[in-house]
Amino acid sequence: MRWRKDISYAGWGRALTATGRVARPVTAHEIDTAAPAFGNRRSYGDAPLNDGGAALDMTAQDRITAFDRKTGLITVEAGVTLGTLARILPPQGWVPPVMPGTGFATVGGAVAMDVHGKNHHRSGSFCQHVTALTLLQNGEMRRITPNRDKRLWAATCGGLGQTGVITQVTLQLKPCPGEVMVVTERRVEGWAEHIAHLDASDATYCVGWIDATATGDRLGRGILEEAEIGRGLPPARPRRRSVPLDAPAWALSGPIVRAFNSLYYHRVPASGRTVVRAFEDFFFPLDKIHDWNRLYGKRGFHQFQCVVPLDQAEALRTMLAEIAESGLASPLAVLKRMGDGRAGYLSFPMQGYTLAVDFPNRDAAHDLVARLEDRTVAAGGRIYLAKDALATGPRVKAMYPEHPDWAAQVAKADPDETLSTDMVRRLGLRRT
Ligand SMILES: Cc1cc2nc3c(=O)[nH]c(=O)nc-3n(C[C@H](O)[C@H](O)[C@H](O)COP(=O)(O)OP(=O)(O)OC[C@H]3O[C@@H](n4cnc5c(N)ncnc54)[C@H](O)[C@@H]3O)c2cc1C
Repeated sequence: MRWRKDISYAGWGRALTATGRVARPVTAHEIDTAAPAFGNRRSYGDAPLNDGGAALDMTAQDRITAFDRKTGLITVEAGVTLGTLARILPPQGWVPPVMPGTGFATVGGAVAMDVHGKNHHRSGSFCQHVTALTLLQNGEMRRITPNRDKRLWAATCGGLGQTGVITQVTLQLKPCPGEVMVVTERRVEGWAEHIAHLDASDATYCVGWIDATATGDRLGRGILEEAEIGRGLPPARPRRRSVPLDAPAWALSGPIVRAFNSLYYHRVPASGRTVVRAFEDFFFPLDKIHDWNRLYGKRGFHQFQCVVPLDQAEALRTMLAEIAESGLASPLAVLKRMGDGRAGYLSFPMQGYTLAVDFPNRDAAHDLVARLEDRTVAAGGRIYLAKDALATGPRVKAMYPEHPDWAAQVAKADPDETLSTDMVRRLGLRRT
């Protein structure tokens, strides 16, 4: 295996970086050194980083090794992206059962974070559809299943890659009745209406964009999107664009974000509308702007994402009010109702409401995120480790009561801590 030395790399938020040896093996059998793996580093913080050490870039392992068109059971290498599957499978009558908001997420990364999609309330989390995994553990390939290897399975799904390098994933796909998304968009004028619509929706896919700069009576206003897969010809896709340079600090300043959000809100007519979209445009709307993370400038950004139980919607409203008052929020903010589906000890989802908001990487944002985390703990909720770069170990352990079960399995699977990452060390996750 060929190593490249002194490579600097980062998560999607670019606020934290690492420098070390990186290898990009083309097959799993080439891997001759135990090291943590990463996919396309679409996690925002330090989950995919190993500063000063070695790391395996899994993106060259992108083959489909088995596919049964009749049953929809597919086996893929860990570096296959969900965007690739979402593009090639619908014409064959199948679709990945769960897709996060970026098609660049690899299947290995989707397992290690047990990702959720806009259909979480209906379909649960990604790993609930995985029927078998191959792990490279201490130099040996080991195929595991949820029934035979219950504890190891629960420590692997959403387990941050700490039980072994995931090399292959077998996934039960979902039947796909068409090739377009039929999306109904409507404006919601404030917090109570937003929550009421999320509660009442019976759509398969449902998500709210929220204007995190709106205050007073408009607090919580946004656009609710409800969607179903439909038949028809996909509309022509707009050309992919890219952000060629790091943007200056004012690009996402308070007044600009407020103006953008107002335009975005009013783009949907007051009476609502139904539109037909291509799959990628609905599931991965930001992927068409390459390197959009550069809009936050050189210092990068953070995303705060939490989920709180259904009876704690008021706590979430208070958090949103604090975010709106801070003047720090970016246009990217999402509100969603989740079901209770989750597959692992450290899986993020719980039945409740999840809020995700981006902030530029500034001291004031760090203080705000710390306060939001405290409120999340107090509300009995949790933050999503795929987005985190700032939390502390005690807070995270308080949010994930099954953490000791995870740590016990990880200690067995990787006793020498060869798979430890910057996030695992920062949060002290190997210790109980
Ligand atoms: C625009 C955007 C939208 C997003 N929307 C959502 C969303 O709606 N829902 C959601 O759940 N998430 C969402 N995410 C987060 C993203 O889905 C997860 O962070 C996912 O893990 C990224 O996949 P990746 O392949 O880039 O993994 P990486 O970020 O590279 O790695 C993630 C973790 O998985 C481990 N890992 C990766 N590959 C392997 C492997 N082969 N073996 C062992 N461990 C491995 C890494 O060590 C790390 O701990 C979003 C991210 C972005 C940038």
